[in-house]
Amino acid sequence: MTDLNRAKSLLTQGHTCVLCKGNKTYISDITGIRPMVEFLSQGIDMEGFSAADKIVGKAAAHLFVLAKVKAVYGETMTHEAKAFLESKGIFAQGELLTDHIVNRQGTGPCPMEQAVKGLQDSEEALKQIKNTIKRLRGNTMKKLGFGLMRLPRTNPEIPESINIPVFEEMIDTFLERGYTYFDTAYMYHNAESERAVKTALTSRVDRDKYLLATKMPTMKLEKEEDLERIFNEQREKCGVEYFDYYLLHCLNTRLYDIATKLKAFDFCLQKKAEGKIRRFGFSFHDSAEVLDKILTEHPEVEFVQLQINYLDWNSPTVQSRLCYEVARKHGKDIIIMEPVKGGALANVPDTVKAIFKQSAHPERTPAEWALRFCAGLEGVIMVLSGMSDMDQLTENTAFMDKLEPLTEEESAMLFRCADEINKSIAVSCTGCAYCTADCPKQIPIPDWFDLYNKGGDPAELAKDHATPADCISCGKCEKQCPQKLPIRRLLTAAKEALHLK
Ligand code: SF4
Ligand code: SF4
Repeated sequence: MTDLNRAKSLLTQGHTCVLCKGNKTYISDITGIRPMVEFLSQGIDMEGFSAADKIVGKAAAHLFVLAKVKAVYGETMTHEAKAFLESKGIFAQGELLTDHIVNRQGTGPCPMEQAVKGLQDSEEALKQIKNTIKRLRGNTMKKLGFGLMRLPRTNPEIPESINIPVFEEMIDTFLERGYTYFDTAYMYHNAESERAVKTALTSRVDRDKYLLATKMPTMKLEKEEDLERIFNEQREKCGVEYFDYYLLHCLNTRLYDIATKLKAFDFCLQKKAEGKIRRFGFSFHDSAEVLDKILTEHPEVEFVQLQINYLDWNSPTVQSRLCYEVARKHGKDIIIMEPVKGGALANVPDTVKAIFKQSAHPERTPAEWALRFCAGLEGVIMVLSGMSDMDQLTENTAFMDKLEPLTEEESAMLFRCADEINKSIAVSCTGCAYCTADCPKQIPIPDWFDLYNKGGDPAELAKDHATPADCISCGKCEKQCPQKLPIRRLLTAAKEALHLK
């Protein structure tokens, strides 16, 4: 079979863009022009390949020219694209030849075709296409996402006790201000966050007014059948037919091995083909090297969720900057989690407050500085903030509307602040509480670390809870910690510092 016929045959199997040459094949299931934009951004060598695509207008034709392909087939192709490709010596074949391509809503011309109108230079066309993608994305999504892992509680001690009336009020304000993205997960609030989403959001608000993201708990997977069971449970709990964004939760070396063994990536692609997932990605907690390996092995992934903040930017364990650079190299959209590091960058030490006060913007709050650092990074489509009360939500939504990128001096100032903060905290725990689920002694580990960091009287917490002195050093907690904290060693240090017996 020729390369072109093979590409055409793969296209009919539900893919949107296929390139073949000999035994090499590149496949994408992303709609529109983005597959070729991403292949080009990733520096993939496509010279001499034969390509098959759903729709080939002049914009796509420019990209195929840049890729130096040999032949292009389009299920739909414009006369202009065919002529342009042929003028560059590329074989062009359209199943259906047409004069125009319309936008997705069918209400007007395709914005990509508009962007390249009259352009003959393909490099310039690529620039205009990228600008248009950015503009369209910016139009449809404001960059602040509502993280649903630290919701208001009726009883601060009980994670499941989500305060629904307050949560509903926060949702209404968030939506009124034009924000749409909600990020939950199976694991949040002891598996109650998704149910709260149904009560407070999906049962009250029209489906087209919000974007919902949730995550497959890879840490709970034991056999292949778990994927289908949990996915259906999530749809039922959230009260939705489909998820706008769906992630494999918390991938690291160990959980990636499990996801691979149980074919979790294939499962998500299947759900995408069934229309139950709109965009597919994963959240990640490991080294940049591991991220590179996963993205190389899974080019079909559309976005990654990374822990990025100015405190972790140069951290040798979290590797925010290195992971960010890997995601950019692979051309992936980036969603940021922990931009304020579980609140640590909102409640900064006095030395850092003093630095902010002396800056050109003394009116900015610590949280604002932290969120601005993240939102200004290129390729970032969403910054998640786990908001716990209306004050936080009001503050965050107010300034995310008028974002300007940080200047070089401001970035340098934040790295100085990071040094100050690192000096002042003993444990960089984000309070996610993943470590507590399997602790045989039920030690409230993040609460003890919080007390250790802030200093204080341990008697209150010790009254009704196990203490670091009860730790039997089994190590179960450390396997779950996304920050890779040496929890046992730190609990011993906390025990000594807090004089616990
Ligand atoms: S090492 Fe200590 S804190 Fe960690 S799970 Fe075991 S008993 Fe709990
Ligand atoms: S010790 Fe690790 S797993 Fe536990 S709450 Fe802190 S960051 Fe999360």
